[in-house]
Amino acid sequence: MSRAESSGILSPRDAVAELSAYDPGKFEYEINLSANENPYDLPSDLKAAVMTAMGDLPFNRYPDPPASELRVAIAARYGLEVDNVVVGNGSDELIQDLLLAYGGRSRTAVTFEPTFVMYSLIAELTDTKCVALKRRRDFSLPKGTADLVDSVDGDIVFICSPNNPTGTVAGEDDLKALLSATGRIIVVDEAYEEFSKTSVTGLLRFYPNLVVLRTFSKAFSLAGLRVGYMLGSPKVIANVLKVKMPYNVNALSQTAATALMRNQGRFDAIIDEILSERDRLLEALGDIKGLTVYPSAANFILVRAARSGETVWRKLLDKGILVRYFSRIEGLTNCLRITVGKPSENDRLLQALTE
Ligand code: PMP
Repeated sequence: MSRAESSGILSPRDAVAELSAYDPGKFEYEINLSANENPYDLPSDLKAAVMTAMGDLPFNRYPDPPASELRVAIAARYGLEVDNVVVGNGSDELIQDLLLAYGGRSRTAVTFEPTFVMYSLIAELTDTKCVALKRRRDFSLPKGTADLVDSVDGDIVFICSPNNPTGTVAGEDDLKALLSATGRIIVVDEAYEEFSKTSVTGLLRFYPNLVVLRTFSKAFSLAGLRVGYMLGSPKVIANVLKVKMPYNVNALSQTAATALMRNQGRFDAIIDEILSERDRLLEALGDIKGLTVYPSAANFILVRAARSGETVWRKLLDKGILVRYFSRIEGLTNCLRITVGKPSENDRLLQALTE
């Protein structure tokens, strides 16, 4: 078989040939409620302290490969050891590292759809077979979750809790049943845990097959600097460290994330405001005719339009408001995901939707 494309250039790997590059689209908007970020930047004094610390860094030197100071701060926060922690260039990168270490041709990843798209995408990229199981109509995990995973011989199971984009928290009984099987890795992605306050990190001591993903990109206002981390047993972390790029988290990001780890309490009031705005939005959206609103434990809300979700999305954009529209995802027909913004932004959204 020829290895060249019609252009004469070597063709990419099969898994890559079929993919399209990530394209978030280029839209004109005033209010961005599409990416589940914190609508507020860091408190200004904290940002100033971070900038000062960054200014003291020698830019001519590589960053600390394992991000030691940050790992120590993270481990201390959970009462864990440093060898339970690995830091990534966003938690996206750690999903990739985990599948590089544990996925591949003879392995099966399992997802519960609809869910965060990176699990299946990275599985494809790493030649890992991906079995997509379906959530129930209310987006909770399916009945007999652990038996279903058994029946498809899953090796690496991804559970997003709260689930992006539905806002659903996974039941602890389901998780414990999954964790009780040996020879399998169960990944619980807690990117939005600061909003749901339903962590399984307390189970890490009991289940060496549990891996928890966390990020600084959401509640902690650091999406632009790309820092996430993985918690797990020393064996799993050691294998992920083997595939991790040595200098994956740059020195500026390590410095900022370490400062935030030591000042987490500063975000309590901001998180409380986002939660009370979320509850206000849930109620107000529920009063808008033609919208089905799903409960959410996160900083975003999934709604389903009775008619064309695309039309609603387009009309919001015409009014300067960008939300996320899921055009082709099974189970999300006509659905929009709305990130909770500042009170004035949420007011604008409600007004636009009512009109
Ligand atoms: N997990 C989930 C569920 C997410 O929604 C996101 C961001 N959209 C990520 C992981 C990745 O976050 P980051 O790479 O910014 O840490």
